[in-house]
Amino acid sequence: MVNTKIKTTKSQEIFTAAQNLMPGGVSSPVRAFKSVGGQPIVFDRVNGAYIWDVDGNKYTDYVGTWGPAICGHAHPEVIAALQEVLGKGTSFGAPCLLENVLAEMVIDAVPSIEMVRFVNSGTEACMAVLRLMRAYTNRDKVIKFEGCYHGHADMFLVKAGSGVATLGLPDSPGVPKSATSSTLTAPYNDLDAVKALFEENPNEIAGVILEPVVGNSGFITPDAGFLEGLRELTQENGALLVFDEVMTGFRIAYGGAQEKFGVTPDLTTLGKIIGGGLPVGAYGGRRDIMSMIAPAGPVYQAGTLSGNPLAMTAGIKTLELLQKPGTYTQLEEKTKKLADGLLKIAKEEGHEVCGGNISAMFGLFFTSGPVHNYEDAKKSDTAKFGRFHREMLERGIYLAPSQFEAGFTSLAHTDQDIEDTLTAAKEVLSSL
Ligand SMILES: *Cc1c(COP(=O)(O)O)cnc(C)c1O
Repeated sequence: MVNTKIKTTKSQEIFTAAQNLMPGGVSSPVRAFKSVGGQPIVFDRVNGAYIWDVDGNKYTDYVGTWGPAICGHAHPEVIAALQEVLGKGTSFGAPCLLENVLAEMVIDAVPSIEMVRFVNSGTEACMAVLRLMRAYTNRDKVIKFEGCYHGHADMFLVKAGSGVATLGLPDSPGVPKSATSSTLTAPYNDLDAVKALFEENPNEIAGVILEPVVGNSGFITPDAGFLEGLRELTQENGALLVFDEVMTGFRIAYGGAQEKFGVTPDLTTLGKIIGGGLPVGAYGGRRDIMSMIAPAGPVYQAGTLSGNPLAMTAGIKTLELLQKPGTYTQLEEKTKKLADGLLKIAKEEGHEVCGGNISAMFGLFFTSGPVHNYEDAKKSDTAKFGRFHREMLERGIYLAPSQFEAGFTSLAHTDQDIEDTLTAAKEVLSSL
């Protein structure tokens, strides 16, 4: 499919060359636009709520580098802080004060976190937390939910949502059965299914891990009582509850979904926002559990670049910006205006849609819904989403290139940006 309204000659040239150099031409699969069709655009720079491609087109961005850009891209205070720290070098591979600073901020913010370990990605955080769950409980099995993504480690590549769903792969070749044989799955929002798994596997389940608000099979919210129910079931069964807040941490609320919903897990994984656009992940939780991590305890986990001064700096500055009064009210208002507006327009134009937002995270499915889980999400008309995506792109609106991804807003999005987006959406939705 060739673009009709915007010039993308350079993007096409670069992406064509990239396909010969890197598998699929990308460093991460969803960037290849496989599920929405058309050529991916190649970026040149980002600033505030906007991105510019190599052909000079400007777009309003609702991906925000998949979450980290919650204060807007290239925030001047983040850039200035990075420039200052850069003068001292790029990596120490040794303790630095900045780690203490970010650790204190994370511990203060996230209810479940009493101690934290920094890593370099969300994937790493989830891998480590799984080892820790198993070590602490001395049990091997874990429960995850269909459509939840916890990074690309073997043990989690079962019904893993977005990237995998986008490509239509049920799983990945190369993942041995032995790696996933201890991974049990249940439909999201289905407490009875979780209960049944605990009954079928007495004293064998180390814990339950989930996205407390799902963003990796589109945007799906927890039903009333679901998170509370999981908290009770895990406690009754001597198992741990882990919230993967790599996406929702500092986005749904400053203290994440656990603050928003008032349910405190035992362990939490973080990433994205806490790195302010640099590669960071983290996991943390109860002191007695975290004390098992080496060198305090026997559970091994390490990283050459972990706690990197630049990454810590971008994270610290980003969290400082988020601490300003009114931040989350502002994010909620803007995002609600966008999400409600999209739904209203789509319905007026005769489309079956459902969706919504919590704070700065939103989603729109092309199905009448409601969407409680991944099975429901899959009923969405993905071909229609693909056309919607492409037409919005050609009107300068950059949405995540998959139906099974959530959308993100930032403090940099203005009311005018939202209105322009809705105007574009009306034009597109009336012609689909
Ligand atoms: C993005 C994401 C991950 C993986 O993080 P990476 O930094 O991409 O490895 C894990 N869990 C959730 C919920 C995510 O959204």
